[in-house]
Amino acid sequence: MKVICIGRNYAAHAAELKNPIPDEPVIFCKPDTSVLKNNQPFYIPDFTNDVHHELELVIRICRQGKHIDEQFAPKYYDRFTLGIDFTARDLQQNLKEKSQPWEKAKAFDGSAPVGRFVEITEEMDVKNLEFALEKNGKCVQIGNTGDMLFHVNRIVAEVSKYFTLKVGDLIFTGTPKGVSAVKPGDRLKAFYNGECLLECEIK
Ligand code: ZN
Repeated sequence: MKVICIGRNYAAHAAELKNPIPDEPVIFCKPDTSVLKNNQPFYIPDFTNDVHHELELVIRICRQGKHIDEQFAPKYYDRFTLGIDFTARDLQQNLKEKSQPWEKAKAFDGSAPVGRFVEITEEMDVKNLEFALEKNGKCVQIGNTGDMLFHVNRIVAEVSKYFTLKVGDLIFTGTPKGVSAVKPGDRLKAFYNGECLLECEIK
């Protein structure tokens, strides 16, 4: 399986990092070794002094597809969860300055914790899902998928132009504003509808 991520998908987050608003989705990938499951702890790697949490809605691909039309995209994902796109911000800044790819800063081992999956039902409006992240009991990020610059269906269409989507692949759909650094001892909890889908202890 692979993990595909969207960058700068919320205008307020693009602004907080002083990035321009993209005119098409910013896409990058993480390998399968980035995934952390079952609330495993996250160990801050020794190559960074500034790891940020980015809370994101994550969808799970349920059907293989390539060149998927936006209107048929909902047939290709059946569940969602919340995940954290951990980012070594100092390293990313350094790579950006050198016009190099972001992978070392974003795709390292353990950089993609994912929570418990929730089935997407008919009544659910994927264009209006609210989610939140608590750090040490204090709310630090609140997102609503209605604020996405590129909605989930557009993302599936866009991503599948370049990569064949396979069953079990995950798409991280971008973070709302409120990213900040984590330190050993911090506890992150991600909520959807008041329900905690993901917990992650920082070590
Ligand atoms: Zn992200």
